[in-house]
Amino acid sequence: MPPVMPNWKEAEAFLNEARQLDAADPLASFRDHFHVPPHGENPALYFTGNSLGLQPKGAAAVIQDELDDWKKYGVEGHFQAKRPWVNYHAFATDDLAAIVGANPREVVAMNALTVNLHLLLVSFYRPAGRRTRLMIEKGAFPSDRYAAVSQLRMHGLDPEHHLIELEPRPGEHTLRTEDIEARIEQEGQHLACVMLCGVQYYTGQWMPMAEITAAAHAVGATCGFDLAHAVGNVPLQLHNWDVDFACWCGYKYLNGGPGCTAGAFVHDRHANKPELARLEGWWGHAESRRFLMEPDFDLMPGAEGWQTSNAPVFNMAALLASLAEFRAAGIDRLRTKSLALTGFLERGIHAVAKSSGVHLEILTPSDPNARGCQLSVVAHGKGKSLYNHLTENGVIVDWREPAVIRLAPVPLYNRFADVAEFLIILEQGLKESK
Ligand SMILES: *Cc1c(COP(=O)(O)O)cnc(C)c1O
Repeated sequence: MPPVMPNWKEAEAFLNEARQLDAADPLASFRDHFHVPPHGENPALYFTGNSLGLQPKGAAAVIQDELDDWKKYGVEGHFQAKRPWVNYHAFATDDLAAIVGANPREVVAMNALTVNLHLLLVSFYRPAGRRTRLMIEKGAFPSDRYAAVSQLRMHGLDPEHHLIELEPRPGEHTLRTEDIEARIEQEGQHLACVMLCGVQYYTGQWMPMAEITAAAHAVGATCGFDLAHAVGNVPLQLHNWDVDFACWCGYKYLNGGPGCTAGAFVHDRHANKPELARLEGWWGHAESRRFLMEPDFDLMPGAEGWQTSNAPVFNMAALLASLAEFRAAGIDRLRTKSLALTGFLERGIHAVAKSSGVHLEILTPSDPNARGCQLSVVAHGKGKSLYNHLTENGVIVDWREPAVIRLAPVPLYNRFADVAEFLIILEQGLKESK
């Protein structure tokens, strides 16, 4: 319950509805499989699973297993451990493939997100002749833009002329499908690669990934996505959408813990192409011959061929615990709950705006098919004191100046009651803060 009795007349109705929805939620018990940070006596209202997912209670046991096996076996743990380290990444493969809609051969857990983005751009952004341009979205996550610009420079290309940044129409916050398609068509033979986000980190827009891929292929460009905010959030069909490559991190919706090992997808079409440019390392060398220490590189088929180093076991252990939760909950059931949970939040924000008289603008598309769980809300005319009010009352959200609140109700562990309690605290805060 919120700490102060609300004087918002709809508070009771939202709380009652939330209780009913939680009682009927088939996934409600999954919350108990996660550690929700406390705020005083109560659990915090945690809405930053888009930034760092919560710790699965099963994580400690998996990490402890690896510590025990290291203690017990030393180097022999590579083969003797309960989960032999030599192929540790493979324990994540089937679940990751299910989450991104791929064949197991198309995915691999490795490295960190930006590292994977670079490795994949090395292979799939191959400027040649007139075809030199790389398309990203304007306002992309800085790391992605840095990666794109440095790739261009590596090819001796000036980002000023060869980096294309898609921009929404004036006065709009998100990209229209027809505008993306038109721009790709317009770039035509100049376009080498389209590399967009799956879900935009700032606006929460879920890109029309299948349409974008088709448009890119129609002009002869490759197409890839950064799925940092999409993986574990929205249902993906990377294989069927014919996406060339994709990468993601393990610590946002995937709950693998800070700095968790990331992932990569490469379409089966590119599974066996030793001729593709690639930065090679011994973990991409044919598994059966890896320890023969041969001088010549013998490429592993599939996404595993992009591996360079042996698996960071401790960085993947917690991820395995989280993937077990995804497997049990199922991406489809999670999406069903997510639609209801975010829809409930959206309706509540409109009600709070009306009651408080504050203009709350939702930047995220209102079409549920064009978003995941996150809503990005601007509290016009408000400032940091609103954020302080939220924080003091146990609400953990992402805040950007001037007054952009990004909220991600995560279906694995957030309750409808979290949303109702947040709405009450927000309503108070809007009335009381400057
Ligand atoms: C979170 C995020 C990153 C972070 O990159 P790391 O390599 O994991 O540090 C990069 N890009 C996007 C789009 C993100 O959302």
